[in-house]
Amino acid sequence: MPVFKDISSLRQWRQGLQGPLAFVPTMGNLHDGHMALVRLAAARAEHVLVSIYVNPLQFGPQEDFARYPRSLDKDLQQLHAAGCSTVFTPDDALMYPRGRKDLSIIMPARSLSKPLCGARRPGHFAGVCTVVNKLLQMVQPEILILGEKDYQQLRIVQQMVADMNMTVQVLPGPLQREADGLAYSSRNALLSPAERQIAPLLAATLVDLAQRSRSGAMIAELAQAGRDSLEQAGFVVDYLELRDSQTLQLLDHGLPGARWFAAAHLGQTRLIDNVMIPL
Ligand code: AMP
Repeated sequence: MPVFKDISSLRQWRQGLQGPLAFVPTMGNLHDGHMALVRLAAARAEHVLVSIYVNPLQFGPQEDFARYPRSLDKDLQQLHAAGCSTVFTPDDALMYPRGRKDLSIIMPARSLSKPLCGARRPGHFAGVCTVVNKLLQMVQPEILILGEKDYQQLRIVQQMVADMNMTVQVLPGPLQREADGLAYSSRNALLSPAERQIAPLLAATLVDLAQRSRSGAMIAELAQAGRDSLEQAGFVVDYLELRDSQTLQLLDHGLPGARWFAAAHLGQTRLIDNVMIPL
């Protein structure tokens, strides 16, 4: 399995390919959520490239960049076993050779990037869009695969692709969960055993809200009740909101296809999740 660390060998490989390439960008510490994206990529395209890069541009100064779990050897073994054709592991010198202070950046659409995680993580989505744009320029895939776990990120990148007239097709991958409902996340590795026991309540709360908001219940009251039960269990809630799945605008009534979004801290670890009101 080729592992490219520089652009010229990546480009050389890319130019020799016959047939479509699907690209799965990741920050590593791979789990079954990532692997489902790799399987989706392999089902849709002849060639699959996974990138592993913890992008400093999308972490704020007070965030967990240094603490973010890294496990490159294990990741490569996992990808190899899954039949992934190729991996790209750039480093900071390759991604940001002039540093990050004076970089040309992509500004994401304001309506999509201001709410939810954007309100708590200023600059985060500009960092995401910039690195995804750079990776797309390097990799030149036909298909870009992104998970619905980071649903706001997915919508923002879809909009960037449309606004910039990029030809890549963005393919969403369904959110994958552990048996107890907790969404797979690289950050789950940072939870203490006690926090890991509590963590599935985030998903359970969203599933419950999605079911209850079908029946015309007051959304503000439901959100408050959900927040209270999470905080009683030990979460510190950043947001718990019902929004339109396309525009990400706040909703005050439950519509099939709309989504409940949550971000909450358990100790030092920030978890995010979202659940759609069934169609
Ligand atoms: P990350 O490594 O966290 O940057 O994630 C890389 C890609 O995997 C992103 O497109 C994520 O949305 C996706 N992803 C992460 N966790 C999951 C999950 N539990 N289910 C589906 N996709 C996921």
